[in-house]
Amino acid sequence: AKNDHRGVALATGEADDVAGRQRLTTLEELRVGLDRGELTLHYQPQMHLASGTVTGVEALVRWEHPRRGLVFPDVFLPLAEHAGLMGRLTLQVLDIALAQCRDWRAAGLHLVVAVNLSASNLQDTTLPGHVADALSRYDVPPAALHLEVTEEILMRDAARATAVLAELRAMGVRLAVDDYGTGYSSLAYLHALPVDDLKLDRAFVTHCDSDPRSAAIVKSTVELAHNLGMRMIAEGVESEAALDRLREWGCDLVQGYHLSRPQSADRFTAWLDERYP
Ligand code: C2E
Ligand code: CA
Ligand code: CA
Ligand code: CA
Repeated sequence: AKNDHRGVALATGEADDVAGRQRLTTLEELRVGLDRGELTLHYQPQMHLASGTVTGVEALVRWEHPRRGLVFPDVFLPLAEHAGLMGRLTLQVLDIALAQCRDWRAAGLHLVVAVNLSASNLQDTTLPGHVADALSRYDVPPAALHLEVTEEILMRDAARATAVLAELRAMGVRLAVDDYGTGYSSLAYLHALPVDDLKLDRAFVTHCDSDPRSAAIVKSTVELAHNLGMRMIAEGVESEAALDRLREWGCDLVQGYHLSRPQSADRFTAWLDERYP
């Protein structure tokens, strides 16, 4: 029994060791990856429901790892946040997104680009200055940039976050509460936040055509957003049936696999050309 016990303990210790080493390798790789510019963005269209036109895209980060191929954000964003690399990462993402936005504008495509912010970004009072720099460097008007912040992050250090957001908004950048409905913000809080759009979480959207409870939540969120002078964005639209209901209920913008998955800039422009020749 003693041996068994020691055996198990040893195995667990070894496993921890391996996991620890793996984490370190990945972190080191992530630092190198950031230095080498291995981050890339995929773009997912946002459609304005009343007009049926694609008015913008959400930029979603990917890591083009030299050996592992395309790595998704859920794998490396927690690591970046934990290691204090999120400031650098976000500035790189902004740079790529705004360069792309400038190129599209030069080609006559006036698309709004939405970029996601992380928890540490909102505690960083130098962020608004960096955003202003990037906008002027690429000669992109502030109104062409949207920033998304999850409801959960907004609630963490509300005072500091609100100050950073207010400064961004004063520059003319549009702000959205992301994953709305999954956090715990009260209506009073929502009322006080300097935000322009509510982006309802896909958990309530995807089955809104068949699930009455989802339908009720979507309908009342559209109403709430409009009553607060905000727009409602639905993410996770995966079917024509859901799209039809959202249109009927007055939702402003939609995004989801039914329209398009996130894809490289080249593939996105080809998709747009084919759809709106
Ligand atoms: P998010 O901001 O909620 O982005 C939407 C996620 O849902 C994306 O996953 C997208 O590919 C996926 N999605 C889009 N349409 C559908 C749909 O119809 N059905 C379903 N099931 N999923 C859909 P992705 O690209 O893996 O990103 C995951 C999360 O990583 C994002 O969630 C966001 O929180 C974070 N993220 C992505 N890029 C960035 C970034 O540049 N900076 C920061 N801070 N976070 C980012
Ligand atoms: Ca988002
Ligand atoms: Ca979201
Ligand atoms: Ca999400």
